[in-house]
Amino acid sequence: METTTESAPRQHAEQPMTSAYDVDKVRADFPALHQLVHKKPLVYLDSAATALKPQSMIDAVTQIYAQHCGNVHRAVHTLSQSATAVYEGTRDKVQALLNASEREEIMFVRGTTEGINLVAQSWGRANLGPGDEVVVTELEHHSNMVPWHMVCAQTGARLVVVPVTEAGEITLDAFDACLSDKTKLVAMSHVSNVLGTVLPIRDMIARAHERGAVVLVDGAQGVVHGAVDVQALDCDFYVFSGHKLYGPTGTGALYGKRALLEEMPPWMGGGDMIGEVTIRGFTHNELPYKFEAGTPSIASVVGLGASVDYVTALGMNAIAAHEQRVLAHGLAALSEIPGLRFFGTAPNKASVISFAIDGVHTHDMGTLLDAHGIALRTGHHCAQPLMQRYGVTGMARASIGLYSRPEDFDVLVRALHRITKMFS
Ligand code: PMP
Repeated sequence: METTTESAPRQHAEQPMTSAYDVDKVRADFPALHQLVHKKPLVYLDSAATALKPQSMIDAVTQIYAQHCGNVHRAVHTLSQSATAVYEGTRDKVQALLNASEREEIMFVRGTTEGINLVAQSWGRANLGPGDEVVVTELEHHSNMVPWHMVCAQTGARLVVVPVTEAGEITLDAFDACLSDKTKLVAMSHVSNVLGTVLPIRDMIARAHERGAVVLVDGAQGVVHGAVDVQALDCDFYVFSGHKLYGPTGTGALYGKRALLEEMPPWMGGGDMIGEVTIRGFTHNELPYKFEAGTPSIASVVGLGASVDYVTALGMNAIAAHEQRVLAHGLAALSEIPGLRFFGTAPNKASVISFAIDGVHTHDMGTLLDAHGIALRTGHHCAQPLMQRYGVTGMARASIGLYSRPEDFDVLVRALHRITKMFS
């Protein structure tokens, strides 16, 4: 992510800030990169959908099943105790990654989607009513729009949508125009999964707070491309998915400020979230377990801990700087394709390039690129309102991860030249 006053990357103390980034060494850690697809070396440009996994993360998951195979928080026996220790260890790692002030402010969820639904159903149902407004932006992923549609329908609150500019930006003027004393909650992406735009979240959070609103940040694409400091941002909730951070599927984390979490009712009921249960009712557990009902994705959470170790060792700032170099090369290389239109040209942009080419259906493009061994996403990217904004049904999207190379875009551009000739 570009360094700006809104989203200046936090400097992790343990990060080597000036060491050279050795992408070939990094790539050696990712077994999935070293395969042929349709007899061509894989070029993976779909990290925004899900990131490939480092061997250390895969080994951590295997080790849980091979060794620490007990349920967590349950038994006094050794396997349960050791499973609990490594599971809870991830909470400390995520706390450090986000710079949360307390480990109890980190809850494990299945991913960004579940984290947002948790806040919508717990905080939203308890605090929203007729006359209240929830503000989202036009570039949100369905995961940060549909849960708010649902809770608005349940409570009588109204959804207000901040429009996006042609360049794919959310301006503070447009944002201000949507805020009022009726605004109870603002929910916005840190980084757009379609346009790559880095939103001015620090200013947006401050302005929402001036109106007394609570703010949730969808960090699914934010936490992967730069350092995040929830205390400096002062957001009330921040949520991300493990699988986009080089971790396993089925896990993620929700950060929330303790004062809000204490007031919120539990969302799901079941084992572990209770204090005492009788025939007549129950009391709930302390934070964070109040929001972690049932047996969690233990192995995945432990894998998430290993992936947090991996990115932290590389350094979030070093990763961001490397990705910016690849992004700049990708944008320059793609701009040579005749008839190519970029979506999202904001100056503050991270790791995602969406485009369309005159006369080439994006679905055909995706299929033909796959035959070249190139993995790239085509379609609506779970952001149909944004597609409607640009008057298209889909876009092609090349997205960058910490293992991406400028050469990946040279391969893409050569293939796109061949494909456009087929359609001309
Ligand atoms: N928000 C954004 C910005 C995303 O990119 C995604 C995943 N594409 C999500 C939310 C949903 O994440 P998940 O499917 O992992 O819950």
